[in-house]
Amino acid sequence: MTGNFETEVLHSIHKKAEGIKSKATPIYQTSAFTFNDLDELEGFYQGEGSYLYSRVGNPNTDELGQSVAALEHAEDGVAASSGLSAILAGVLAVVKNGEHIVAADDLYGGSFHLLKSELDRFGIETTFVPFSDLKKVEGAIKDHTKLLYTESITNPLLRVENLEDVIALAKRRSLTVLIDNTFATPLHVRPYLLGADLVVHSATKYIGGHSDVTAGVVVGRKDLIAEARARIVNLGANLSPFEAWLTCRGLKTLALRMRTQSENARMLAERLRGNEKVAKVYYPFEKGEKGYGAIVTIELAKHVDTNRFFKSLGWVKIVPTLAGVETTVSHPLKTSHRALPPEAQAELGITYEVVRISVGIEHAADIIEQFEAALDAAVK
Ligand SMILES: *Cc1c(COP(=O)(O)O)cnc(C)c1O
Repeated sequence: MTGNFETEVLHSIHKKAEGIKSKATPIYQTSAFTFNDLDELEGFYQGEGSYLYSRVGNPNTDELGQSVAALEHAEDGVAASSGLSAILAGVLAVVKNGEHIVAADDLYGGSFHLLKSELDRFGIETTFVPFSDLKKVEGAIKDHTKLLYTESITNPLLRVENLEDVIALAKRRSLTVLIDNTFATPLHVRPYLLGADLVVHSATKYIGGHSDVTAGVVVGRKDLIAEARARIVNLGANLSPFEAWLTCRGLKTLALRMRTQSENARMLAERLRGNEKVAKVYYPFEKGEKGYGAIVTIELAKHVDTNRFFKSLGWVKIVPTLAGVETTVSHPLKTSHRALPPEAQAELGITYEVVRISVGIEHAADIIEQFEAALDAAVK
């Protein structure tokens, strides 16, 4: 391809029904595929690229996996029924019973629970450490450690991971690295190009972008993706064809959405930084060259009533997710980070006054005005 993101996001992968020249990819809403004879059936098992059964593979889910792989410049990719199942498949592609993971202590809440409450019961142990301190990461590595796992930009406080250093440490200790690139998207950073082995996305977020689908993708080294695909097939964690189709449709506008949302977010963050009703603005201003990302997290000042602020936001809805085209807000303490022990919440800086803003594609001036009005209305 051309190497240009804008072109690749549209033209990297298109599978079309033979003979019928549909401009858009058809939806292969089928649980299984037909064969003319046993030779053709045998061809499937010989890897000739035909399809057998949708849990095992489907043109729409393949289009999504391969499109994201192309955007991340990874060797291969596979779609899954959610971000969490993509993470599960990625982790189980590397780690088995009796082995160990070192993961960031500020992982997305659902990912934390997957490791802590589920994989733990199957004999896969995880040590959670702050990845901002690589000495602690190295100190947590044991003889049976197989995987380092962190996020390129963390939720909700937007710590930008030093991927080069994490990957260098993993290579030095012969470990596999898995990076959750959901918040950054391949527009801002491509962990695979930096040497990560596996990259996962909750496609529910920016990859799909329209808040109408739950989906996940794992991309990376061919041998590891073969393992991840086997896990998805055997665990029944496949994505449905229609969900894959919707996600691919959303993906076409990723460059436009993400660029506008990031620019709006930077403007909002800059404006709120100068507002005395906001105690703290979390935003990776200094990472400007690679883009900023479209999440802004703020901590309200003590003289602002948090609930009244939420109630005064007009067309900005309270939604416990992110990355849609509409600007939305969430309350991390009482949703995504609710299950963390109070000490962990306090240590991470997730207080009652912390508000996560997912900035949309509305006019920047309207977004800024809405937040300033809500701050004014919420002064105690
Ligand atoms: C939402 C999210 C997930 C989980 O994805 P689902 O699609 O909800 O399963 C994982 N990681 C990050 C960073 C997320 O934001």
